[in-house]
Amino acid sequence: MIYLDYTAHMPPDEAALRAFGNAERTYIGNPNSHHSAGYEAGNAMAGYARQAAEALQVSPEEIIFTSGASESNNTAIQGIAYASRHFGRHMITTPLEHPSVSGCLTALQERGWQIDVLSIDRQGRIDLEELKELLRPDTVLLTLCAVDSELGVIQPVREASDILKAYPHCRLHVDATQAVGKIPFDFSLADTVSLSGHKFGGVSGSGILYKKQAVDMEPLIHGGVSTTLYRSGTPAVGLAASLVTALCTALEKQGERYERVRALNALLRTEFSRRGMRVHSPENAVPYILNGGINGIKAAAFRDAMNRHGVCISVKSACSVEHTPSRAVYAVTKNRKQALESWRVSLSHLTTNEEINEFLRILDAVCKEIQA
Ligand code: PMP
Repeated sequence: MIYLDYTAHMPPDEAALRAFGNAERTYIGNPNSHHSAGYEAGNAMAGYARQAAEALQVSPEEIIFTSGASESNNTAIQGIAYASRHFGRHMITTPLEHPSVSGCLTALQERGWQIDVLSIDRQGRIDLEELKELLRPDTVLLTLCAVDSELGVIQPVREASDILKAYPHCRLHVDATQAVGKIPFDFSLADTVSLSGHKFGGVSGSGILYKKQAVDMEPLIHGGVSTTLYRSGTPAVGLAASLVTALCTALEKQGERYERVRALNALLRTEFSRRGMRVHSPENAVPYILNGGINGIKAAAFRDAMNRHGVCISVKSACSVEHTPSRAVYAVTKNRKQALESWRVSLSHLTTNEEINEFLRILDAVCKEIQA
């Protein structure tokens, strides 16, 4: 099998799996319990929060362990919406958000919040002038993905954060799920930031929500005091251990992994253009994600044919609804047909040159098969 869907999921690092097992075996108590087994587990959780904070250059009180980025996004967006409803109910977003952001905003819209969606240019970047026009005294949230999961566009988070300084009630939430461990990201620019362990070698079901201490946020999961007020439930010691282990490795190896993937991405771009195929990801997108399309071939048919030949690629993100045009590709191309023909190849440091060559060989065979 040739796996080229690392944006959807990356297998866990051996070290992260070992850290999970060791922590689960070592800490037998509930971190919230008041006896020595509980204190040991609680201290371990505090240690993981300190390690994560150090790696991300934030403070440990700003780390909330969650089950992943979907929970982090929902906690931040709904939590800020409810905590700031006396200031207003207006929010701004982009057409490139993951369904855990866009779906959450739609749910809020049904409950009376007003949502504006920014336009993006041909490079997929948000229009900062339009952002200035849309901001109002009752705007309480701008939610942006640092890197989107379909095209790999890097958004101008710093510039957006600077614009928001004139709006003291407007918070900035950044979904950095596809950025952390891949490109440098400055957490201090945002009020809340989501990340997910299984995107950089942690175990699935682990995530972090970073929340600046001064930010008011209502908890999404109520249920008494835990290691944090903002997320009840028994803290998952093994998941936190695995996430922190993978995070430290991913950040330490970020530069060398990036260079490796950049070379593979350049090879794919050259080969796609030789074949007259489209590339929807802009040149300056992260190299981990390459969105492409072939004239006259529907994305789902292409994905399924590739899958029959043992190649795993994706159409839109794994959590999207099937058989609808890609919202992200439509937003950059304004072309419904191209949006229906777009698919995504996603790479990691585990991808080999041999896999890319084999992928290209199968792609040629599949194109012939479909067009025959
Ligand atoms: N945001 C983005 C940009 C993502 O790519 C994903 C995963 N596809 C998520 C959020 C959701 O992450 P999780 O699987 O940890 O809930």
